[in-house]
Amino acid sequence: MGSPSSGWRRSPTSSTEESEEAMRGAVLFGPRDVRFEERDAPKIIEPTDAVIRLSASCICGSDLWPYRGISTTTAPTPMGHEYCGIVEDVGRAVTLIKPGQFVIGSFFASDNTCPHCRAGYQTSCAHRQPVIGAQAPVLRVPLADGTLVATREVPSSDRIPSLLAASDVLGTGWFAADAANVKPGATVVVVGDGAVGLLAVLAAKQMCAERIVAMSRHAARQKLAREFGATDIVTERGEAGMARIKELTRGVGAEAVLECVGTPEAMQQAIGCARPGGYVSYVGVPHGVELDAQKLFFRHVHLHGGPAPVRRYLPELIDLIWSRKIDPGKVFDLTLPLENVAEGYRAMDERRAIKTLLRL
Ligand SMILES: [Zn+2]
Repeated sequence: MGSPSSGWRRSPTSSTEESEEAMRGAVLFGPRDVRFEERDAPKIIEPTDAVIRLSASCICGSDLWPYRGISTTTAPTPMGHEYCGIVEDVGRAVTLIKPGQFVIGSFFASDNTCPHCRAGYQTSCAHRQPVIGAQAPVLRVPLADGTLVATREVPSSDRIPSLLAASDVLGTGWFAADAANVKPGATVVVVGDGAVGLLAVLAAKQMCAERIVAMSRHAARQKLAREFGATDIVTERGEAGMARIKELTRGVGAEAVLECVGTPEAMQQAIGCARPGGYVSYVGVPHGVELDAQKLFFRHVHLHGGPAPVRRYLPELIDLIWSRKIDPGKVFDLTLPLENVAEGYRAMDERRAIKTLLRL
């Protein structure tokens, strides 16, 4: 998700100044330059805000776009938009969320009452606001009542990674499957073997797809895809990948294709794998993707994507995690203390790690 800059400040010249109001968190200064820097400690600004103390944080695949300089960073930018933790303080207009509750929210704050929210598109909320700076100990969440979902009690620590995954990657993978109309018995193709793609496999499995093809050429990711429910692995890409999917589907193509990357190649591959009348969902932030309307017209595919309305799915996802029916926290294959956040970015950038959990 995008990460507009605010809340960063230069270290005060006097080190004693406002020390209780400062904290340290991840700040992006420029391409491949993430630092664990002093920032203003978040506090209640609007009466609808909450401030939460995070139980864990993590790095998202979409954080790699600004990290790699593909989306431009003009000012030092606090990073991170995935979060879960304990409510410390709420504004005077917050009535549903209470201090002491364990809560999870999504990367866009939403009121959950406007027509778009009520239709299940909270990431198009008329009052949406980005949540930024979650790679830090404390976070301000706008529109707390609409954005946050509280668990019935404070979870045991072994559930934290899965609950954190629900904040973005699981919710996004779930939307990928839902938006591609995955139905019981369906043949599903997942393009992209990052955390979202892997959890899209898990989501398709939960929605009772019969055949789930993961397109991946990385052994560790293939293994996790199989654990999450993939029945087939296709290592070919582009034209060869599309040909392989045709072959696996007796020349027909897949009824549901989940594009979880955001590049032109991935989008072309996804559309090329769908059968006429099939569905293609796209949940990776597009970078340089352009579609040829003429070609699209003659393919007869449904396209449905966008920033996942994770809030729509959170209550259901929390229940599935709470009852241990799913374990999406397995996507975290590297855990580091928050102060080593820069190494977490490097590991994901070099594809040494699928997803980095940051310990607080
Ligand atoms: Zn709304």
